[in-house]
This record gives sequence, structure tokens and C-alpha cells, in this order.
Amino acid sequence: MKIAVLPGDGIGKEIVAETIGVLARLELKFEFEEAPVGGAGYEASGHPLPEKTLALAKQADAILFGAVGDPRYDALESAKRPEQAILGLRKALALFANLRPARVYEELAAASTLRPEIVAGLDILIVRELTGDIYFGEPKGIRPHASGGREGFDTMRYSEAEIRRIAGVGFEAARKRGKKVCSVDKANVLETSRLWREVMTAEGEKNPDIELSHMYVDNCAMQLVRNPKQFDVIVTGNLFGDILSDEASMLTGSIGMLPSASLDANNKGLYEPIHGSAPDIAGKGVANPLATILSAALMLRYSLHQGAAAERLERAVKLTLRDGYRTADIYTAGTRKVSTAAMADAVAERL
Ligand code: NAD
Repeated sequence: MKIAVLPGDGIGKEIVAETIGVLARLELKFEFEEAPVGGAGYEASGHPLPEKTLALAKQADAILFGAVGDPRYDALESAKRPEQAILGLRKALALFANLRPARVYEELAAASTLRPEIVAGLDILIVRELTGDIYFGEPKGIRPHASGGREGFDTMRYSEAEIRRIAGVGFEAARKRGKKVCSVDKANVLETSRLWREVMTAEGEKNPDIELSHMYVDNCAMQLVRNPKQFDVIVTGNLFGDILSDEASMLTGSIGMLPSASLDANNKGLYEPIHGSAPDIAGKGVANPLATILSAALMLRYSLHQGAAAERLERAVKLTLRDGYRTADIYTAGTRKVSTAAMADAVAERL
């Protein structure tokens, strides 16, 4: 199992190094190969996604990504900025499905801005289509308006094939979890959504073991804060998914805990924490490595077909939290504040 290791910038380097240390404790044969990306890629070769890094990513079975970005590069032209690396990888590898689990460990329920009884034990997965929709639909632009001034316009578009493809990811993910899919659209107003609902319904009939429901996006935004535990897997388009996945991540109250996966049609994927490079705490040894460790668990499950190892790793994280280990971002009185390395060591011991 060849893994391309792309730590990136800031805390990316620290959390990825610790995660590799934890993975090495599993009795599995990994081959890790590291390459620079983001600001580190720019320093190495003048481009945030160097050719060699992209070649490695293409050739590997999966990609473990840290984070990119640093204020030092803020003045660069947009094509050279570190953040372009992630967009370049998504495009080059055709990563069309973004999976974002939002899970609230009982021990951390108090960290949410919602009441603990609303979120304790929450375990939902948002599956967001990543390469279509209004972000990429043509035509788009700003043009003179007939009645004076200018108008801006974008085009929301989804082909049947694109909808079917993301539906497949959603049903498959639900099969490995609570066997429920909620498809989110705006079919009361948008033609794109009407087609979306039609195709999702047809795909639902092909997956009778999964309970399919539909919800309008405005209602879903409301239900996510009213009663988030009603959901198992939410499947939605790029625009709605962008917004709902950020909303769902806040339910957990801790950015340092949330993993993500971006998959292609063969379940090859890029795995990364949802947070950025956190320049404010980089180099201090205080970053929370759990989002990256949990991303590695997703990698084991979705790309490497090591479901049992994924569960072991997730259980080790749960036990570490139960035993009171906390990095500064999730620390509360009465628990044990530890460094990045000590947190990862605690997980490794519990494996
Ligand atoms: P950020 O996620 O890096 O940090 C936001 C806040 O959360 C900071 O206070 C930070 O210290 C804290 N934080 C983040 N991760 C943490 C962790 N693991 N443990 C403890 N605390 C953590 O977002 P930002 O500050 O808006 O962006 C910083 C840089 O990261 C920018 O250059 C941005 O473009 C980039 N960024 C990259 C990605 C990515 O690589 N996918 C995603 C978001 C932002």
C-alpha cells in the first residue's frame, strides 16, 4: 500500500509526522513517500504543486495531506499561492466526492455551541459532490445589463451521470454505517434539483437496503441545528454541500477533530483534516493531531480496504479522549493537557 505523504505547511508537517508514527504501529505493510506541496512546494520548485509531487500522488494508492498556506505567500499571484495545490490535486485526480464525517465524542460534547444533549453521540456523514454545480457551470461572468449597470451570472448544472455517480458514493457509504441516506436539494425551485431528485429516487430503488429520504436545503440547514442526530448520510451537490458541511462541522465545536476524504471513481482518495495550516500555532508542538489521525482511518477504510484497522484506529482515539488526554484546543478543566506528540503517542499506545 503506497501512500503519498504531502505534509504541506505550518502545522501540516507536525500532524502528518505524528500520524505516520501512529500508522506505523499497525501491523500493515505501508510504503510512505513524502513530497513537498503548498508553500513548501513553491520553495522547492517555484510551484505549489510540483510536477514530481503530482506524479507521486497519481501513482500512490492514497494521499495523506496535511495543510497548506502561510502568510509569507499571501502576496503571490493566485496561481502560485499554496491553496492552489489542493485545487490542482482535486482536478488532476478527478476527486469528485468529498466525505466529511461530523462526530461528537461524548467526552467533547460540552465543546459544542449547541446543548450537549442535542449533539452528544452525533455521528453523521456529509457526502458533497465536488467537481460540478454552479462553481464550474458555464456560462458565467459579469456583463452589462440591458437596463443599465452590470449583472453577474453563474450557471447551476448537473448531468444525470454526475448525480448518479455521487449517489453511488452516498449509498455505498451508508451501507457501511447506519443505512440511511438523506438527499438534499431545492427541487421546489430549481430545475437542476428536480433532475437531481429524480435520479436520486431511481438510484434509491436500486439500493433497497438503504432508506432514502429527500429534504430541501433550507429545511436541512434548520434540522442540522434542531435535531442533527436524525441524519446518517447526507448526499448533496457542491454548493449546498459547501455550506452544510461547514455548518455540520461546527456542531462538534472543534476544528482539530474533523477528518475528510476526497474520492475518485475507484475510491482512490486524498485524506486531510478540514482545518488549515494554523500559522498562529505552527512549530509550538500544540496542534491537535486527531483530525489527521482520523483522516488516516478514513484512508484505511475507503482506499485501502482495511475496515478493521480503521475501526481500531478510531477506537484508539476514543479511548485516548476517554482517558482524559487533550490538546490545548479541546482542553477543559479536569482533563490532561498534552502536546501534539504526546497525544499521538497516547493513541499509538491504545492501538
Ligand atoms: P486554520 O484552520 O488554519 O486555523 C483556524 C484556527 O483554528 C486557528 O486559531 C488555529 O490555530 C486553529 N486550529 C486549526 N487547526 C488546529 C489544530 N489541528 N489544532 C489546534 N488548533 C487548530 O484556518 P486559517 O487561520 O483561516 O488559515 C490559515 C492558513 O491555512 C491560510 O493560509 C489558509 O488559506 C490555509 N487553509 C488551508 C486549508 C487546507 O490546506 N485544506 C484549509 C483551510 C485553510
